[in-house]
Amino acid sequence: HTKLETQVPLVRNRAFVNGEWISAASGKVFDVIDPANGKIVGSVPDMDASDTAKAIQAAADAFETWKHTTAKERSYYLRKWYEVLVKHHDDLATLITAEAGKPWKEAHGEVSYGNSFVEWFSEEARRTHGEILASPTRTKEMILIKQPIGVAALITPWNFPIAMITRKAGAALAAGCTCVVKPAEDTPLTGLALAQLSQEAGLPKGVFNVITSNRDHAPEVGKLLCESPLVAGISFTGSTAVGKLLYKQSSSGVKRLALELGGNAPFIVFNSADIDKAVDGAIASKFRNCGQTCVSANRFLIQDEIFDVFVDKILDKIKTLSMGSGMDHSCSLGPLINTAQAHKVNTIVLDAIKKGAKVHCGGRPASSLGERFYEPTLLTNINESMMCYNEEIFGPVAVCIRFKTEEGGVTIANSTRQGLAGYFFSNDVPQLWRVAKELAVGMVGINEGIISTAEAAFGGIKESGIGREGSHHGIDEFTYTKYMCFGNL
Ligand code: ADP
Repeated sequence: HTKLETQVPLVRNRAFVNGEWISAASGKVFDVIDPANGKIVGSVPDMDASDTAKAIQAAADAFETWKHTTAKERSYYLRKWYEVLVKHHDDLATLITAEAGKPWKEAHGEVSYGNSFVEWFSEEARRTHGEILASPTRTKEMILIKQPIGVAALITPWNFPIAMITRKAGAALAAGCTCVVKPAEDTPLTGLALAQLSQEAGLPKGVFNVITSNRDHAPEVGKLLCESPLVAGISFTGSTAVGKLLYKQSSSGVKRLALELGGNAPFIVFNSADIDKAVDGAIASKFRNCGQTCVSANRFLIQDEIFDVFVDKILDKIKTLSMGSGMDHSCSLGPLINTAQAHKVNTIVLDAIKKGAKVHCGGRPASSLGERFYEPTLLTNINESMMCYNEEIFGPVAVCIRFKTEEGGVTIANSTRQGLAGYFFSNDVPQLWRVAKELAVGMVGINEGIISTAEAAFGGIKESGIGREGSHHGIDEFTYTKYMCFGNL
C-alpha cells in the first residue's frame, strides 16, 4: 500500500462495472503518478474494448429499469450521492491534489464545484417536464415529452478530475440515462472514488459504471463507445483533436454528441477598465490550476494607453505566486500534469522567445522543484507567427498583446477557430454591451475572470464544441423530445 492509500480511504485499484469492483480481463494495470514528485499513488486496470463492452452491456441492462424510475426517485438518488460526496469533501480534495497536482485549496474548491453539479441536477431532475401544445386542429391534441436517450458514454479529462465527471453524470442520471465513464488516464482515482461513493449512496448497480484505461487503449475504448449500438450518446471534454475524432466515429451510428473542446480565450482590458480588478481577474483566470483549464485566459489583449501599467501590475502579482507541491497548503501554483505537458509549455515559450518575445519573468522550467514544474511566465512583444498566439498554452504563461481600437481588439480576439470563453474589463457601459455581443465565444466574463457555476450554461461555439453543460440546458443533451399526437378526438 502506498502512503496515499493509508491517508485517503477512497483510493480504489479496480474499475467499477455493474456494481462490482473488477480487474481488466487481461489482468493488466497501469500506475497513477503524483505530478509533484513522480511517485506512484495507485494503480488501476488497463481496460480494453472487451472490458468496455461489458460495461456498456451492464449500463444497457440497468437502463431498462432506471428509465422507469420517476423524476422524484432520481432526484432522491442524486441528493443521496451529493450528501455522501459532501461527507468526503476533504478526502476527495486530497485525492485530486495527489493525482492532478493542483494546490489543495483549489482541489477543495473543485470538490465544491464538482459536488454542486450533483446537487443542482438532483434539483433539476424534477423539472424535466414536457409541453402541451396549442393544437391547430379541433380533433387533435399534441404533447411533447422528454425521455432519456439511453446509455451515455462520458469521456473526461484530467484537469478537473471530479467536476468534469459530475457535470456530465449528474445531468445524464437526472435525465434517466445510465453511464459508462472513462476518466482520463492521469486521474482515474477520483473517478473511481466517485463510483465508490455512488455505491455508498445506494445507486442501483449498472447505473454508474467507471472503466479505466491507459493512453494506449483509449482509442479502442473510445471507438467502441462511439460505435456500439447500445450507446445512445457521447459526452466528451478534452482536446480538439480527440473531439474531432469522436465526432467522426460517432457519425456512423448518428449518436447524440456533446463536445467541450479547447479554448483560446481572449482577455481584453480596455482603457476605461479598473486596472487593479482586471489584474486580479487576469491572475485568477490565467494561473488557476497552473493555467490548465480550457477557459483559462490564453491571450491578454491590452489597450494601448494602459498597456505598460497593466504589464507592471500583473508582473508584481505574478511574483507573489508561490510554487510547489499542492499538498503544501501555502502554495498557489502546482506542477503541470505530466512531462509531456511540461515539454509542450516549454516549446511554446522557446518558440516565442526565438521569434522576438520579451520575457518579463519565468521563461523556463522550474527544474529545482521537479520535472513537471514551470516558472510562472510573462511575455510581451508577441506576434501572430508565434505558437502562443494561436495555440492553447495550458500552462502558467501569460502573453500580453497591445491593440489600439475596440474594433481592433475584438478582431484579434475573434481571429481564432476556437470560441469557448472570453473576458473583458471596461467601465464604458455601451462598450460592455457591444463587446459582449461581438465576442465569438460561448461564454463571456464581463469585469470577471471566474465564471463557471452549475447554474450557468457552459460550452463553446466554433471548434470549441457542441452542446451545453450545467444549467437546465445540461439535461437536454441526455433527453429526446418525443412528440405525441392524439387524433380523432
Ligand atoms: P488532454 O490533452 O487534455 O489530455 P485528451 O483529449 O487527450 O486531452 O484526453 C481527454 C480524454 O480523452 C482522456 O480521458 C483520454 O484518455 C481520452 N482519449 C484520448 N484519446 C482518445 C481516443 N482516441 N478516443 C477516445 N478517448 C480518447
